[in-house]
Amino acid sequence: SIPLSFFGGIGGASRCGILVKGSTYLEELSRTGIVVFDKTGTLTRGVFEVAEIHPAEGVNPDTLVEAAALAESYSNHPIAQSLRRACKAPLDPARVSNVEERGGYGITAQVDGRTVAVGNARLMESLGLTLPKSDSAVGTVVHVALEGRYAGSLAIRDTLKPTSAKAIASLRKAGVRKTVMLTGDNEATARAVAGELGISEYHAGLLPGDKVDQIETLLAQKSPKERLAFVGDGINDAPVLSRADLGIAMGALGSDAAIEAADIVLMDDDPARIALAIQISRRTCSIVY
Ligand code: ADP
Ligand code: MG
Repeated sequence: SIPLSFFGGIGGASRCGILVKGSTYLEELSRTGIVVFDKTGTLTRGVFEVAEIHPAEGVNPDTLVEAAALAESYSNHPIAQSLRRACKAPLDPARVSNVEERGGYGITAQVDGRTVAVGNARLMESLGLTLPKSDSAVGTVVHVALEGRYAGSLAIRDTLKPTSAKAIASLRKAGVRKTVMLTGDNEATARAVAGELGISEYHAGLLPGDKVDQIETLLAQKSPKERLAFVGDGINDAPVLSRADLGIAMGALGSDAAIEAADIVLMDDDPARIALAIQISRRTCSIVY
């Protein structure tokens, strides 16, 4: 590995693929005591595989997948990209209109002039649809409704990034006293991910606004000297990136909103960069101050 003494300040950080938007943020970073993570695309790869397809009675499974993938034509949510990839039929976005994306819920759109809704149980309930008795599939479940009728679900599965566990452990070694995961995904999936990574605290089923509330609570609990960093990919979490003491956006190719809202941008998707950034900031700041 590269000796840290080689690097100094913002320039050194940028050589490691860590873009810091000003020297105050480097100083703040050196005081990081709490690191809060978004789950999907941050700790997990954000690449979902369709593991199971459960069409409702009388619904063709291929139709189900195609309708879902088409409705997601314009979304850059990791789930949308995954559904498009899972669809074998060619996807012509010209068939799609009136798209409405609701953060923490899913999508509604017109496909070939028919109403399609794709999202979680909360979205279906908000549309007044009753879900069939839970088949309690582990993982993330995407429900689909066609023309106001429940049409079935897809069980999709994401995997952890290979460096996530190491990233959490090295934060601890770097003196970060608390790691927290926030997610809009369900409780079972959140518990499994947090457990596997050794994250002490997690909150599931959160809407984008709930994530901001959780940040407020954590900010109110911390000591005045320490700083709270939030790490996300910017999909549904730009307000949280802004609210944290330090907003860290991951994967510079992610979204413009994330780069805009963040104080620090990581050029790649590797969560282990965060401990490195803290180490660089400590080194730099111990020289400067
Ligand atoms: P996370 O907190 O894990 O990053 P989000 O807040 O982006 O997740 O989304 C929370 C949940 O909302 C997802 O797990 C999914 O159930 C639903 N959701 C959000 N956007 C979409 C979408 N474009 N298509 C389908 N479901 C979605
Ligand atoms: Mg997210």
